[in-house]
Amino acid sequence: ATLGDFFDAMVARDPEHEALVSRHQGLRFTYRRLQREVNRLASALLGLDLTRGDRIGIWSHNNAEWVLMQLATAKVGLVLVNVNPAYRTSELEYALNLVGCKALVTMARFKTSDYIAMLRELAPELAHCRPGALQAARLPALRTVVWIDEAEQGEDQAGLMRFSSLMARGDVDDPRLPSFAAVLQPDQPINIQFTSGTTGHPKGATLTHRNILNNGYFIGEAMKLTPADRLCIPVPLYHCFGMVLGNLACLTHGATIVYPNDGFEPLSVLQTVQDERCTGLHGVPTMFIAELDHPRFAEFDLSSLRTGIMAGSPCPTEVMKRVVRDMHLSEITIAYGMTETSPVSCQSRTDTPLAQRVSTVGQVQPHLEIKLIDPDSGAVVPRGQSGELCTRGYSVMHGYWGDEAKTREAIDAEGWMHTGDLATMDAEGYVNIVGRIKDMVIRGGENIYPREVEEFLYRHPKVQDVQVVGVPDAQYGEQLCAWIVTKPGQTLDEAEVRDFCRGQIAHYKVPHYIRFVTGFPMTVTGKIQKFKIRDTMKDQLG
Ligand code: ATP
Ligand code: MG
Repeated sequence: ATLGDFFDAMVARDPEHEALVSRHQGLRFTYRRLQREVNRLASALLGLDLTRGDRIGIWSHNNAEWVLMQLATAKVGLVLVNVNPAYRTSELEYALNLVGCKALVTMARFKTSDYIAMLRELAPELAHCRPGALQAARLPALRTVVWIDEAEQGEDQAGLMRFSSLMARGDVDDPRLPSFAAVLQPDQPINIQFTSGTTGHPKGATLTHRNILNNGYFIGEAMKLTPADRLCIPVPLYHCFGMVLGNLACLTHGATIVYPNDGFEPLSVLQTVQDERCTGLHGVPTMFIAELDHPRFAEFDLSSLRTGIMAGSPCPTEVMKRVVRDMHLSEITIAYGMTETSPVSCQSRTDTPLAQRVSTVGQVQPHLEIKLIDPDSGAVVPRGQSGELCTRGYSVMHGYWGDEAKTREAIDAEGWMHTGDLATMDAEGYVNIVGRIKDMVIRGGENIYPREVEEFLYRHPKVQDVQVVGVPDAQYGEQLCAWIVTKPGQTLDEAEVRDFCRGQIAHYKVPHYIRFVTGFPMTVTGKIQKFKIRDTMKDQLG
């Protein structure tokens, strides 16, 4: 099946069931209404002089238009390109040109950012063209810019098309739609997603209907989603976490998608879970930490919660224990994956024993294979030892857009995707992510996994969040460095941290540098960019 077929089948099961709640927009859609709007948009997109396989970008925070675009492009065989709303002009130019976007949908503004002004800066030609007829020197493929106008009933803007006027051109019963659906194949690209840029420049992964539709379905299975579930999705849609673990897991199980806000805001998450009686909640670890530690946390009734997913970066056992205990998330799961693999390759299930559920990323997903290898020799490592996690199966991306060489580097001749992550696996197949190969620290010949030291420091009662990296050192090659955020109202000093480590962890794992900070450099997905911590330390240490 393709995403469009699957969605239509879900609509047919219970058309009046709630499909989508966008709280910050005050919008609610039943499955039937969502389908009508999707069909209207799909029909309108066909009027934009776009053909099957053309790329259309969306550069926006979470909103209802996002899910309409996700489903409408899938129906007519367009390739949706997720553009990070934190991108500014040079990144936008790079992303749109890399994949040759012919059209772009964007918000007018978000908080203090003026998206249209940024576009005009890149493409001053917008001022003199008809909507849909852009010819811009710096964005040569781009013809059409659509702005999401629901919040601002502003003036028509030269060269730009309103989302509402685009929709108005669409025909819900467009007779061309079934013929488009009939020729679509599951192996055709549906989506280009950029990686988070945690380790450097984001890469554009081309994914097919088969890739992400299957993955979304099995993610929902692991959470035991049913139409009774209402999933709160504060994670961004431009990233696989929001669009696959969130939107697709819900839509393939007839559940309800709930967006608390356009950007992440812990208070609106807590309020939404309470008001909407959400049964599920997604987040990266830092989001759950921000919710748990919010000064008003105790005021909210979160008793409707049951499940959800923590993922994206190492999920500290202490944080998992707290969400199970304090947020009613007794059936929360952890997922592990990467954009290039649709993304999830391992996930715990709601019925995974609690001990494994809070401390591992679960087992391999159905119909996928994983193996752990010695990155140098390529040989599979014995159980219990750490090795590079490789995965194979329906989930492995089509490739990096326009980069054959990089694709071949990542996916070997036998179809194994080499993830760059180090993991261990126990006798029952539970996988533990030890860290990224790139983040491993080698100090005086000793291999140190920062993750292990972070887990230890999290146990200190005054530590809210901690990141450990290696910084270059003339004598030892590398030295360990910890950046610590203390809990609100607490003070902590170096001596106290060192005392805490003494006798508990090997001397070489005790951070040489300890810094107290108020936060970490992060991607919009809430992932911590260790390379930036390393760069800052390098600058400071000279
Ligand atoms: P880039 O590839 O651009 O450097 P990125 O790898 O962070 O960025 P994503 O595809 O968003 O981009 O993230 C995938 C990575 O996130 C994985 O390779 C892994 O390192 C990390 N990750 C994901 N889930 C988990 C998890 N549950 N535990 C530990 N690490 C995780
Ligand atoms: Mg990556």
